[in-house]
Amino acid sequence: MSEYFVYCNYPKKKAVIHETSCSECKPHAGTPTDYWAGPFNTVERARNYAFGALKKDISGCPKCTPIGKIVNPLPMDSFD
Ligand SMILES: [Zn+2]
Repeated sequence: MSEYFVYCNYPKKKAVIHETSCSECKPHAGTPTDYWAGPFNTVERARNYAFGALKKDISGCPKCTPIGKIVNPLPMDSFD
């Protein structure tokens, strides 16, 4: 069964969902500007994590998780 990690970037409020088998999925300890969250056992859980982490620019990796851009349903004023 697939598992997923979420790459999160703070300054860009960006999150990219990768499957663990993806060549670009390289979870590491956090840095001042980014970190990896996971593993999550479904894409939905990974996506929900990104929502809760207040990411604006959320997408699936085009190589391993081609689900495109995902709109965070939270109201825009929650990101400030
Ligand atoms: Zn990927």
